[in-house]
Amino acid sequence: MKPANISLKTLSILGVAIAIALGPIALPEYQVSLANNIGIFALVTLGLILLTGVAGMTSFGQAAFVGVSAYTTAYLATSDQLPNWLGWAAGSPWAALAIGLVLTLAVATLLGGLTLKLSGHYLPLGTIAWGLSLYFLFGTLEFLGGHTGISGIPPLQLFGQTLDQGYELYYLIWVLVLAAVIVTLNLLDSREGRAIRAMRGGQLMAESMGVNTYRSKLLAFLVAATFASVAGWLYAYTQRFVAPAPFGLQAGIDYMFMALIGGVGQVWGALIGAATVTFLKQWLQDLLPHILGKNGNYESIVFGLLIVWLMQKAPGGIWSWLSPKLPDWKIKQTASPIETNEKLPRRPQPQAGEIILDVKKVTRRFGGLVANNDLSLSVKAGEILAVIGPNGAGKSTLFNQLSCVDTPTSGEIHFRGIQVNGQTARQIAGLGLSRTFQHVKLLPTMTVLENVAIGAHLRGECGFLSSALRLDRKDEAKLLQEARYQLERVGLGNYLHVEAGSLALGQQRILEIARALCADPCLLLLDEPAAGLRHLEKQALADLLRRLRTEGMAVLLVEHDMDFVMGLVDRVFVMEFGQRIAEGLPEEIQKNPAVLEAYLGGAE
Ligand code: ADP
Ligand code: MG
Repeated sequence: MKPANISLKTLSILGVAIAIALGPIALPEYQVSLANNIGIFALVTLGLILLTGVAGMTSFGQAAFVGVSAYTTAYLATSDQLPNWLGWAAGSPWAALAIGLVLTLAVATLLGGLTLKLSGHYLPLGTIAWGLSLYFLFGTLEFLGGHTGISGIPPLQLFGQTLDQGYELYYLIWVLVLAAVIVTLNLLDSREGRAIRAMRGGQLMAESMGVNTYRSKLLAFLVAATFASVAGWLYAYTQRFVAPAPFGLQAGIDYMFMALIGGVGQVWGALIGAATVTFLKQWLQDLLPHILGKNGNYESIVFGLLIVWLMQKAPGGIWSWLSPKLPDWKIKQTASPIETNEKLPRRPQPQAGEIILDVKKVTRRFGGLVANNDLSLSVKAGEILAVIGPNGAGKSTLFNQLSCVDTPTSGEIHFRGIQVNGQTARQIAGLGLSRTFQHVKLLPTMTVLENVAIGAHLRGECGFLSSALRLDRKDEAKLLQEARYQLERVGLGNYLHVEAGSLALGQQRILEIARALCADPCLLLLDEPAAGLRHLEKQALADLLRRLRTEGMAVLLVEHDMDFVMGLVDRVFVMEFGQRIAEGLPEEIQKNPAVLEAYLGGAE
């Protein structure tokens, strides 16, 4: 028998579920309606945690999405002038929920399509812009009641039950919050979730691992919009009145505060953040007039100061500050969710000696500078080729073109017989070219195993729904098993569950190789793999690359460490000023006068 295989995650969900169930019994009536508000806020905040905390996209526009659905619900529940084609939806909460969702997702897809390609500060600015416009739209449209809004929403009726008591709504709200938490936790712990998390490691890295980053961004965005939409539906039936104010920019900023205070990137932080901000505001509103002896918006000022103080004390949010202080229950994640004997399918492997990469007369100009000048080279299966040359020779430029991050000005690149210049990094990753980065790109707070599993992205198939509903366990087990296998292969088998950021730099480079291997490549591009490695680690790396060569893998590496290169590789390609100055066996290169002059510079 294995020890009880209950994870911290299951335990937390159970704990919160019990706390939720006891809520209305323990709380006075007034607190129950406060808890209802907190639940609705937590739902919106949860979306933001996914969007901003996990995927790295800052949005101040979530409140507007809540508004779209709240207004839809209010309108359908109250209007007696619905057009004929909408008659079926009159008064039906289910129809309101569905139509609200469809509308929110339609607006979100449109806005997401327009703004998610923006980078840097433009995305948050874009979200502010739509937050403002939707707010003014709610206040302007006459059939939505203008600035006075829509009142007289009848109580919610579901399955013949009228939910008009605080505690009845309470259970509905909190069951939905818990469901959203579970969906989010499931999502984050899946192939699809890793792709979303991978964007924090840089889009270039994610794309090179085969992740469609635009799709992942849009997915995170739509999930967040869905939570906001459900929150809007609940809001309309809880308040039974809607007006523009709770859906404006100020509310959008409040949601961001909740996410920041709870703990950006921490799922449970949504609940903590929503509760903290709500209580704080309530408490200040009650307390300050007593202390100061006069009324006014003092709570906003004190609230602002408190937020600044909290951010100073707990920059990662309350949850990040709290969780190390909680008792360690010694419940460790198991190595993979289900043990599986099935392996991931492998791509057809090249024949020994097959030319895998064929570069023909590639030139890359940057304005007047010719960074790569008429370069031709080829790599065969089972061969290690080193590209060397002084700084600025154009090695990285060449690598970028081979991995389709950059496109040649002229010339052709053929990979396994297919012309690939002009394709995307994701496409060439799919064809079997996998790479590491000169400057390590990984997710420091994600485990080593999860980081490496990103490399296997294209070999899994489960998408959002199966991930959210946990129907992906078999697929997931195969992916994690592959990641574990590759980690054991490169000698990091003892570090599966530690955070990647805690590894030494040399080990992080090795981790990147394991991640690249997870993609089942035929060609590995390694940019300075030995930099930062200690002597023994270099030997281990050289042994690993030799083993890969025996298995038929082709390796192309850029490296400055000549001892490492000369003892390992089959051929050397030497560049200077963007041109090839020599190519040959290591022994020949070491004696080549042109190379000695240009590069080794009398190192003999
Ligand atoms: P290496 O990797 O061999 O040190 P690089 O390929 O990084 O050399 O750079 C080769 C030359 O191309 C350098 O002179 C560099 O300044 C120039 N270069 C590289 N990338 C760009 C770019 N995106 N725009 C303009 N010049 C570039
Ligand atoms: Mg370089």
